[in-house]
Amino acid sequence: MHEMSLTEGIIRVLEEQAEAQGFTKVKTVWVEIGDLSTVDADALSFCFEAVRNGSPVAAEARMEIIRLSGQAWCMDCSKPVTVKQRIDSCPLCGGESLQVTGGDEMRIKELEVE
Ligand SMILES: [Zn+2]
Repeated sequence: MHEMSLTEGIIRVLEEQAEAQGFTKVKTVWVEIGDLSTVDADALSFCFEAVRNGSPVAAEARMEIIRLSGQAWCMDCSKPVTVKQRIDSCPLCGGESLQVTGGDEMRIKELEVE
């Protein structure tokens, strides 16, 4: 389950930010997850709740997931399209020549701290 190592990465970022910016606690962390990423949002939340207690900075933090839709460029009709999965074909022309341009990432968007 790679969500566990992702969670540990998130908590490491929170701790680094706490030290760099001089706050002691994170209240909320907003995490963006693209529909085309391989991250399971439920598993990530579950892992975060299991791991956060080990970190004074993250112990009381709430994780909010923001879903980003998948973006792709259709090379057949030369238009940007929105896709739900990597294996989708173009919703406009049904073509298979899609190049993913966004929504395949996971990143920390914002922190609420005290
Ligand atoms: Zn197309």
